[in-house]
Amino acid sequence: MINLKSLTFPELTAFVKTIGWEQYRTQQIFTWIWQKGIADVNLMTNLAKLKREQLQQKSYISALKLSDRKQAQDRAEKFLFTLEDNHNIESVFIPESTRKTVCVSTQVGCGLDCKICYTGKMGFTRNLKFYEIADQVLQVQLLTGERISNVVFMGMGEPFLNYNECLKAIETINSDYGLNIGARKITVSTSGIVEQIYNFADFPLQAKLAISLNAANDELRNELMPINKKYSLKELIKAVKYYVDKKNKRVTFEYVLIKGLNDQPKDVKALTKLLRGISCKINLIPYNPYPKSKFLSPSFEEMQEFADKLYPELPAVTIRKSRGKEILAACGQLAGKISNI
Ligand code: SAH
Ligand code: SF4
Repeated sequence: MINLKSLTFPELTAFVKTIGWEQYRTQQIFTWIWQKGIADVNLMTNLAKLKREQLQQKSYISALKLSDRKQAQDRAEKFLFTLEDNHNIESVFIPESTRKTVCVSTQVGCGLDCKICYTGKMGFTRNLKFYEIADQVLQVQLLTGERISNVVFMGMGEPFLNYNECLKAIETINSDYGLNIGARKITVSTSGIVEQIYNFADFPLQAKLAISLNAANDELRNELMPINKKYSLKELIKAVKYYVDKKNKRVTFEYVLIKGLNDQPKDVKALTKLLRGISCKINLIPYNPYPKSKFLSPSFEEMQEFADKLYPELPAVTIRKSRGKEILAACGQLAGKISNI
């Protein structure tokens, strides 16, 4: 049995051809799956009954299984989805006035062991398939009844260690026959897998790039994000510059502010030096604690102070409000289970 959802548009085109159907059937089937969100071939009412029966004998349509959902006071909502092989992943819905964002996972767990991140604590289990990534957007759209406008690849996992599936997911999310979300509304965040930053710069779609920086010198970054031992800041910044030049696009640097650790005057200086001249935005994120975590969160005033010191040198500094903190739905708090808090 073929899972029709597991076929990219070109693969579905080939499938439709092998069963001898007209080409336009590809659009019809893809739209049923990715826009109408059906999981039953029998509901494809613009296919004759005989055709539906033919399809049913050969294929099925998978769907992520909702295992739990929890809403925070600020309306951010965390969804626990169970995959066909029974592993769990999390997605977060973040509603703002006009913008409705879904934060998707790209792996079950993550093998990069960043010291600040709850997902890192669980280790790596497996990569997600493209349709398991795109299906998170579809299911959240169906479950909330809200038209999703933005997608961020900032949930569990490192997207650039699952590069090909992430690109296919972006294509499906972006496709006119798929979820039809503009490429500019899709952001991929990476801890800094340098060779894939180069590849992403060469990828034709205009999806945006964010880099989890978190430290402006190699010594501290090695400690917080072990991947830095493989790709130093110098190599990372070189790749980012290539992306900015090639795409003529601003890049976002995410900087998780940890009280007493990377929020000192010397960090302001190092950051300024590192990023000067790069077309970028700096997004300051307060460190979000998780069970048994050992770092401290800064107060809003401390964040503001850090931003003010950066501001004259690096004008595009924003402070990200953490959403859904009390339900462990904020950055770095996803671990594939619903908390009881
Ligand atoms: N693996 C990718 C995508 C996940 S994004 C990446 O690391 O970029 C997760 C974001 O949350 C990253 O920017 C990371 O730096 C941030 N993060 C991790 N732990 C956090 C924590 N405890 N508090 C706040 N942000 C955290
Ligand atoms: Fe993985 Fe990103 Fe968490 Fe680091 S911050 S452990 S790369 S998910």
